[in-house]
Amino acid sequence: MDERLMQNINEFIEKEKENIRRDIARLVAVNSVEDMSAAAADAPFGPGPKKALDEGLAVARELGLETRNCENRIGYAYVGGEGDNYLATITHLDIVGAGEGWLADPFVMREREGYLIGRGVMDDKGPSVICLYALKYLKEQGIPLRYPVRALLGANEETGMGDLSYYLEHYPAPLFCFSPDADFPLINGEKGIYHARMSSLPIENGNLRFIKGGFAPNAIPEKAEADVFVPAEKEALMVKTPEVEAVKTGDEEGGSIWHLRAFGKGGHAAMPAGTVNAIGLLLHYVTDRGLASNEEAAFIEFALKAHDATDGSLLGIARDDGRFKPLTAVSGMIFLENSCLVTTLDCRYPTNITGEEITEILEKTAGGAAVIRAGLAAPPFWKDPDSPEIEACMKAYREVTGEDAKPFSIGGGTYARHFPNAVAFGPEHQGRPRPAFAGSIHGAEEAASEAELLESLKIYILALLGLEQLDFA
Ligand SMILES: [Zn+2]
Repeated sequence: MDERLMQNINEFIEKEKENIRRDIARLVAVNSVEDMSAAAADAPFGPGPKKALDEGLAVARELGLETRNCENRIGYAYVGGEGDNYLATITHLDIVGAGEGWLADPFVMREREGYLIGRGVMDDKGPSVICLYALKYLKEQGIPLRYPVRALLGANEETGMGDLSYYLEHYPAPLFCFSPDADFPLINGEKGIYHARMSSLPIENGNLRFIKGGFAPNAIPEKAEADVFVPAEKEALMVKTPEVEAVKTGDEEGGSIWHLRAFGKGGHAAMPAGTVNAIGLLLHYVTDRGLASNEEAAFIEFALKAHDATDGSLLGIARDDGRFKPLTAVSGMIFLENSCLVTTLDCRYPTNITGEEITEILEKTAGGAAVIRAGLAAPPFWKDPDSPEIEACMKAYREVTGEDAKPFSIGGGTYARHFPNAVAFGPEHQGRPRPAFAGSIHGAEEAASEAELLESLKIYILALLGLEQLDFA
């Protein structure tokens, strides 16, 4: 380790600490949720994301960096000129909605016991400011750069990544890019993502008058509900279970209508371990009592194959390629539409199956009980953990933290998968303990440890210096 360099970086961080905090607060103050209803030619994702991008680029200029606004979709600060053979970081300035549960205004950054609190402090405004300061360091120290460095600032990461697809269409891709929008140490692979809608044939004689579970295909719902017709002779079966409540709400010829509410344990579709899908609880309650009509039962029997196992084994699509963790399959939503029962499927798949194959196998398994319509399909992304770029990043991480960490792969989708050569690199540490008041990204009281953000700045500076030494053919 180069002690003088480390000391030099430490001094830089000490000198800029207050400024970094001030600049994060400036960006947090901009509510930058996408608003397509107010989109305009110069604000393609709405006024909030545009304003945050303008502010981010203004911060960069105040740090002495040159900037470019790419038609208000994305922008960047740069050092070492604007050449095409450049290295990059990418973060984003748009946010998800504040939601409920905040103890104070989510757009006024607060500090508590070393944690910055506010919407976006961690995802991804704090890291955006950190990247700008990494570039400031390179510039201020007059470090000769073999490759220019850009800090890309996206304005549409949370809602479709329209910022990045635009950039890659209109600007040359970086030689290598890392994205501080995930976890340390480093994510070198992401599973493929496959979405489908699975619907029944139109149901003529059904007993389900209403059914609703879930709010997004990529989330496991903790609640699901239905109104079902129960013939008089089955009313005695309508008891409350630990997971399902049943309440009689009205009479109908030959029986009665019951309102069912199922309670599970929610989570992200990419990580179903430990979750309980409320839709599965609800459907089992209905079929175990024989409450579904024949038409409904045919579809539900198929739909339950996505609930009774989350590894895709009952659907016939279970796969394990030895690199990624095994495939996951989650049905996040159910509803009635035009007399058809509809469920969604979110599948995170390794490299030994394709989206087309998944559709084919689902059709075969359904055997006519369901119509499968494939939607989003993004192939898996995998980068050799022994590549020199990853080694340069990991070396920086190990030097700063002293942890003997290894890159890992995930089931999610970050910016990295869209680039020809990129990884996700920090800045969160899932393994480190956090105080109870520190909320997580996308939730209330979103918090970022200031010390950890500053530590990540050190890691990113060292990583960029290491990447500058590499030969990119
Ligand atoms: Zn993010």
